[in-house]
Amino acid sequence: MTFLRPTLLTLACLLASPGFADDLPSLGDASSAIVSPQQEHQLGRAWLALLRSQVSQLNDPQLKDYVESSVYRLVETSQVNDRRLEFILINSPQLNAFAAPGGIVGVNGGLFLNAQTEGEYASVLAHELAHLSQRHFARGVEASQRMQVPMMAALLAGIVIAAAGAGDAGIAAIAGTQAAAIQEQRRFSRQNEQEADRIGIMNLEKAGYDPRSMPTMFERLMRQYRFDAKPPEFLLTHPVTESRIADTRNRAEQAKPGGIEDSMRYQLIRARVQLIYEETPGLGAKRFRAQLDENPKNEVARYGLAIAQIKGGQLNEARENLKLLLATSPNEIIYNLAQVDLDITNNRLPDAQSRVDRMLTQYPGNYPLNQVRVDLLLKQNRAGDAEKALENLLKTRPDDPDVWYMVAETRGLSGNIIGLHQARAEYFALVGDYRQAIQQLDFAKRKAGSNFPLSSRIDARQRELMEQERMIKDMMG
Ligand SMILES: [Zn+2]
Repeated sequence: MTFLRPTLLTLACLLASPGFADDLPSLGDASSAIVSPQQEHQLGRAWLALLRSQVSQLNDPQLKDYVESSVYRLVETSQVNDRRLEFILINSPQLNAFAAPGGIVGVNGGLFLNAQTEGEYASVLAHELAHLSQRHFARGVEASQRMQVPMMAALLAGIVIAAAGAGDAGIAAIAGTQAAAIQEQRRFSRQNEQEADRIGIMNLEKAGYDPRSMPTMFERLMRQYRFDAKPPEFLLTHPVTESRIADTRNRAEQAKPGGIEDSMRYQLIRARVQLIYEETPGLGAKRFRAQLDENPKNEVARYGLAIAQIKGGQLNEARENLKLLLATSPNEIIYNLAQVDLDITNNRLPDAQSRVDRMLTQYPGNYPLNQVRVDLLLKQNRAGDAEKALENLLKTRPDDPDVWYMVAETRGLSGNIIGLHQARAEYFALVGDYRQAIQQLDFAKRKAGSNFPLSSRIDARQRELMEQERMIKDMMG
């Protein structure tokens, strides 16, 4: 029944058909209103919370950091106007990615498994960002190029279904409507796909990549899944045809040679993702070791082997491998973080702490380093220092549920109970559990008691969250 579960990627094309809006969930009185940029932003954030409540996510700070910085790099040279983005990393080995209205960028772990180079990874994202910048989500080409509220609601609801693979009857009805409309939309889809390829290729080149990566990835995917009875949904709905490959190949060949094809950093992050989806660390270690036997200078394989060994408890072997890597690249953040991970596993906390502090003097704003610093402070019972470090982290990541989760834990440990409830409220709101979020603020208000400025601040935040909750309920019909 793949047909009834459109992938995230196809939704860009699903809304092109006239008459599609008939059975959509209503959004109260606003059902005929055009979405303003600010509303689009808010709807996107509210919807992201809903999506987070439905799907399993990857919360590795290094992976998050990589996806965020690589997408921002592409966005910089893209035609995307509103560059306030939020990210979700979906824990699925299936090939998929999307960029949805409201600036929500989603990446499946499976994108890393399938994209063999950074250029290939970037070409999928450049294609998705082009759907966003060209407003393929809006129906037809209206003068305003703006989408209507129920349309955006349906689009976002559809993405939730696709991502969650959910069987909820209420949202399944929307999926049915979409499925019925798919046939008619093929023509529009193809147009949109071609345009997304074309704009994506331009963007890749402007961002410094070699756009030849796009046809290269398409070609490999086609070969790989040609005889597969169950290809990934990405390919069912995003058919990679000979003509599409030829078309992108022709366009890409016009680019100046010399663009970036790959990076060491991509490969190291890819090794992390591969290990996540390996059945056991032992199997991962075996595969990386085989690569290393072939080429003992293969640093990526050695890194993969080391982190598989840490995960599998072969700590001495991991230490030897990391020693070799750090000898050649003593300042590589990724190797240092692996060493920190090993030291933490070995309970050598002061070693880990001094390494993190040293790295932070070089890279003070680095998110994974700052996160592991917090973890270390907590392990050493320094909750007060951890709380301060987290307040700092919140300045750059105010909408990151993983950070708010840690803030709540840490405030609890340091005895800041009102702050604990406030942080829990932010966490629950970001992951779409508004009932709990609002209840946490009730607890906070009760504690705040006669502290009027504080309790009225909490009250104001509670009203905002209630409003967001209402928006989501309306969105889901
Ligand atoms: Zn597409």
